[in-house]
Amino acid sequence: MQFKESAIRVGGQALDKSDAIAKVGELLVKSGNIEPGYIKSMLAREEVANTYLGNGIAIPHGIPKDRELIKETGVAVLQLPDGVIWNNDERVHLVVGIAAKSDEHLTILSNLTDVLDDADEAKRLATTKDAGDIARRLSGGQDTAVDAQDEDAPEEHELGFEYVVTSPHGLHARPATALVDLSKTFQSSILVRNGNKVGDAKSLIGLLKLGIDNGATIRISADGPDAEKALEAIFNAFAEGLEDEDEAAAEAAADHSGSTEVSTYEGAAIAGISASPGIALGPICQLKRGRIVVSEKAEGSSDEESARLDQALATAKAELTVLHDDMLAKQGAAKAAIFKAQGEFLEDPELLGKAREGIAAGASAGWAWKQSFEDHAEALAAMQDEILAARALDLRDVGRRLLKLLADKVEDDPDLPDSPIILVADDLTPSDTAGLDPEQVLGLCTASGGPTSHTAIIARSLDIPAVVGAGETCLALKDGAAVILDGTSGVLVSEPTDKDTDQAKAAQEVYARQAIAEQNACYQPAIMSDGHRIEVVANIGNVEEANAAVVAGGEGVGLLRTEFQFLQRDTEPSEDEQYEAIAAMIKAMNGLPMIIRTLDIGGDKDVPYLATPEEMNPFLGVRGIRLCLLRDDIFRTQLRAIFRASAHGPIRIMYPMISSMDELRVAKTITEEVRQEVGADPVEIGMMIEIPSAVMMAEDFAREVDFFSIGTNDLTQYALAMDRMHPQLAKMADGLNPAVLRLIRKTVEAADAAGIWVGACGGIAGDPLGAQILSGLGVHELSVSIPAIASVKAKIRRLSMAEAKAFAQRALACTEASEVRALK
Ligand code: PEP
Ligand code: MG
Repeated sequence: MQFKESAIRVGGQALDKSDAIAKVGELLVKSGNIEPGYIKSMLAREEVANTYLGNGIAIPHGIPKDRELIKETGVAVLQLPDGVIWNNDERVHLVVGIAAKSDEHLTILSNLTDVLDDADEAKRLATTKDAGDIARRLSGGQDTAVDAQDEDAPEEHELGFEYVVTSPHGLHARPATALVDLSKTFQSSILVRNGNKVGDAKSLIGLLKLGIDNGATIRISADGPDAEKALEAIFNAFAEGLEDEDEAAAEAAADHSGSTEVSTYEGAAIAGISASPGIALGPICQLKRGRIVVSEKAEGSSDEESARLDQALATAKAELTVLHDDMLAKQGAAKAAIFKAQGEFLEDPELLGKAREGIAAGASAGWAWKQSFEDHAEALAAMQDEILAARALDLRDVGRRLLKLLADKVEDDPDLPDSPIILVADDLTPSDTAGLDPEQVLGLCTASGGPTSHTAIIARSLDIPAVVGAGETCLALKDGAAVILDGTSGVLVSEPTDKDTDQAKAAQEVYARQAIAEQNACYQPAIMSDGHRIEVVANIGNVEEANAAVVAGGEGVGLLRTEFQFLQRDTEPSEDEQYEAIAAMIKAMNGLPMIIRTLDIGGDKDVPYLATPEEMNPFLGVRGIRLCLLRDDIFRTQLRAIFRASAHGPIRIMYPMISSMDELRVAKTITEEVRQEVGADPVEIGMMIEIPSAVMMAEDFAREVDFFSIGTNDLTQYALAMDRMHPQLAKMADGLNPAVLRLIRKTVEAADAAGIWVGACGGIAGDPLGAQILSGLGVHELSVSIPAIASVKAKIRRLSMAEAKAFAQRALACTEASEVRALK
């Protein structure tokens, strides 16, 4: 790395340490190395770690999570001939500001210390008037490779032990300081060897010079009266982590300084459970549900009332279908599933039986239905089981939906104000949240519910801060009262003081800054701090999403769900229609690659006009490639459309739901026949890995295809035998379950052995934690929902592959998804 002369200022002055850091930061900004925000990060680092090196040299640098504010790795030097007090009695003359995107930090330290451990030389550089002099001296050490033979290095001692460094950042300043401090308590000479370099364990510079990186095998040796004791103490200190965790914890605290400060409020804080992070300030609005008035006695005959009930049932079912399809398109299958499950209540024989009994006894349809669903909901709620209580909420929700259709009048149907509010309710039903306008609802707080409640899931997907389980107290707050909702700490603060408000606003700024930084960097590739690249591509279903994916920074499409071309219509789309749609999407990608998945109909995606027989277990039935092989007319038409469209840009074809080699071979044969018919160029062929049998046979499959894409949604449901649409189970069908992670590891191993690449396109690829683990497991491409592109890229950039791998290993060793989610 070259030191630019323009990034060196000689004869500088600084009022104090913070001023010196700000000034060296400005030099880094001017030389195009960092965004101005990184200076704040350099100051924050100083709160948790001392960057004084010795010999009047300090090396301020920012905290790792702000690496994305680094534009280009670089160093700036501020020379302070008069010096400035750093800590206690340390006086600094050379402030070496470092902006390092990765562990290049260590190499820079090694280079620096190589030329600056000479006290006389350091003194001379502190007063030289020639910036070039400093530049030459600093660059001079850069060629010193760790493994180069160091002729002046002391001979290491006989007695010693070898140790493999496993700290993600290697032996950086803090653990090195701890080692120096410990070594100094012994009389013996203690030496550390890394490769061919040997340093004195009692000298910080001596240690940093060694450039000990994560994974390095070092040898610690000692000679003297207490050599054995010293080695034992050092061995134990290494085993305990050499205060490395302290630094990580301190950094984490510094990272969240905005939110940790605001977790202690002066106003009255109502404690609940954190359901969706972020902070909102605004006026309370209590959700008032309308009163539905129904008369007890029927006006007409029981046959007429029964017909009214049937009519209302049909209308309510149609409403739920619309809500389901809308939610499916906007939020995905798991969230849409709730409306499907609600629809089942409308067919429940017990519920309807009781209502019809009431009608037969002379009650109005509305009255009879109200009695029936309220009794059943009460019985469910009384079972004191969180899951059943949630079902009670669903039953009341769908019950009221039907009841409104049978009512004489509905009073005060809830009408949310069209100005921003913090919405408070006992609990929010799926119907309540379906109608939420995220622009107007700044935050959500519910008296009941838990972190997996519907409110929590919806709030997270809409990116609205939320607190659940806050108890009845929150229901007593007056409409319009100004509050702070801290979704990160899980509190609702009523009557906030000015200080609370200022702190909350500052914390909001921290979140916003992070979101903007992520957004600003959305077009940059996701390159880890140690240079590994992960491709971040999009899951799409139509041309609007193809456009949106490009705008959001998608590097291509990892999954085009072609079945959306077949849904919500009465007849099969023609070859031309399919060609037009696919060609439009390929053109929208403007040269970026697109993986087109062949039809995955079946399971939850039912297409009535295909007249497929009703199945007991549609997810285990004729779905995906199975349907295409049974109805190869549909398959061939689609393939023809795809191959015709392939003239417009780079595509790959991928088959869903492959469970056996036979299916894959037949699918490939048909594909090749169609390609030749159309006269198109060959394209890469891949398959989804979403059925456990495919994982077990992955080594064989890997020899037959060009790539794998792991469908974690289905792989999870089939591995755990939990229907992904099931209202109770869907929440537990977590793709981060270690069983699923181990299947993913096996898939990657098989792909690596065959030399093909692996992507992932299920929900966990778009979850920052999932993205980290998948990358660490060796997945090369993450295909995510469009809103997740920027944050997944940012997450990847904050990591090194070594960190991701180590984290993935810890995740694999867990036994529950909850343990994986709790990993820090
Ligand atoms: C999956 O199963 O993870 C997947 C991406 O496919 P779909 O959700 O369309 O079944
Ligand atoms: Mg799938």
